[in-house]
Amino acid sequence: MKSQDIRAQFLSFFEAKKHTVVPSAPMVVKNDPTLMFVNAGMVPFKEYFLGNTKAKSSRITDSQKCLRVSGKHNDLEEVGYDTYHHTLFEMLGNWSFGDYFKEEAIAWAWELLTEVYKIDKDILYVTIFEGDAEDGTPMDTEAYDIWKKYIAEDRILKGNKKDNFWEMGDQGPCGPCSEIHVDIRSAEEKAKISGKDLVNADHPQVVEIWNLVFMQYNRKANGSLEALPNKHIDTGMGFERLCMVLQGVQSNYDTDVFTPLIREIETITNSKYGNSKTENNKTDVAIRVISDHVRAVAFSIADGQLPSNTGAGYVIRRILRRAVRYGFTFLNQKEPFIYKLVNVLSEKMGDAFPEMVSQKQLVENVIKEEEQSFLRTLDQGLVLLNRIVEETKGDTVSGEKAFELYDTYGFPIDLTALILSEKDLKLDEKGFEAELQKQKNRSRAASETSTDDWTVLIDDAEEEFIGYDALEANVKITRYRKT
Ligand code: ATP
Ligand code: MG
Ligand code: MG
Ligand code: MG
Repeated sequence: MKSQDIRAQFLSFFEAKKHTVVPSAPMVVKNDPTLMFVNAGMVPFKEYFLGNTKAKSSRITDSQKCLRVSGKHNDLEEVGYDTYHHTLFEMLGNWSFGDYFKEEAIAWAWELLTEVYKIDKDILYVTIFEGDAEDGTPMDTEAYDIWKKYIAEDRILKGNKKDNFWEMGDQGPCGPCSEIHVDIRSAEEKAKISGKDLVNADHPQVVEIWNLVFMQYNRKANGSLEALPNKHIDTGMGFERLCMVLQGVQSNYDTDVFTPLIREIETITNSKYGNSKTENNKTDVAIRVISDHVRAVAFSIADGQLPSNTGAGYVIRRILRRAVRYGFTFLNQKEPFIYKLVNVLSEKMGDAFPEMVSQKQLVENVIKEEEQSFLRTLDQGLVLLNRIVEETKGDTVSGEKAFELYDTYGFPIDLTALILSEKDLKLDEKGFEAELQKQKNRSRAASETSTDDWTVLIDDAEEEFIGYDALEANVKITRYRKT
């Protein structure tokens, strides 16, 4: 099934259940001082949940563009290294604002997955909230009893507050959630594992696809809970992960959401994707990073957020630079090329997101210009690095010098490390890290206060954003993480 059809089926399924289909809100948040980007489907509906505005319709469904590169949800470091975390992704959602609740939300999720999408029941697991003795939040026995009607009890796993309880902040609407996980391990691999381990949802190929949040409480200032008079449903399903499951592949990057981009990168850069199934080959990582990041940057620009030196624009600039750097270092791209991928994006996603068609020219121009100017920086950095190398006595370049290159000239540290290793020189990594830490300490206090889902940022978000992955060229790169 094509990704376009998968998205359309989701929306029409809930439309048939009397939901109003709405378009994605822009990804860049303009009127909320606590958040830069939409990082979950519920963000555009925040005012409904808080009761400040009455929902236009009590049942809504949509596919929301989300970006998780800052604050509580920052997946940037995973991107390229695992197969299912992206910067930009689509979150498919169905919403009830004081209308239906748990019974229907669970029944419909199950019906959609197993009857419409025909996912084999035997590869599904669900989780429910186990309760929290410390603050007295009860276990979600209601959800447990509903799930029992659909799925064997040994596939209902109990989860803690971190994974199975959702709250907006210290106060306000909150509630337990149920996650749905899909086990996409090969039969061969499953045969090697037996008994209890088979139900181990922490395996990287047992992937969370859908989160059903049951907003039923209000947390008061003194920490106690009261029942909400109007209960709400907030669900979010990762579209690219769903496509992975339905298209029978092991990686989001092997779905038709990404393969057209990857084929184009291969052609432009004269490289080949899929060099290793078991470890993170650098070419593969670079291609994944670029195919992911171009989406984030392009949609941000199409939504009106251009790269800049402050705030959200700065986050976008650095995502693009991360992509340029991977292209430069691992695909040998010394000229702008990422802008050429916008064509594929507008062709493949233009139906669902018409802004990618109407803004195509602008998006291309902006990306190309950004690439050009950063490549110039890289060129200048190379000259400076050569000078540093000439002046270095012994076999180690000092952390201070590398930091100066990184901080003042924006020259990526992993590139420094790579070039030095090619010249049989070492980099004083500890010294670099110490300088980096000093700089972080200088500005951290002023730059961020985080309150769960809502992150308060000052305009210059530099410290809040993770920035260049320090010494990436030297780190071991087979990492899988589930949060
Ligand atoms: P994970 O544990 O995999 O990081 P999550 O628990 O942080 O996911 P939720 O906040 O529950 O994710 O978001 C709802 C759904 O959105 C997830 O079930 C998943 O399918 C999808 N999702 C979350 N983060 C990403 C991401 N970075 N890239 C792609 N899909 C994502
Ligand atoms: Mg989740
Ligand atoms: Mg999770
Ligand atoms: Mg996460």
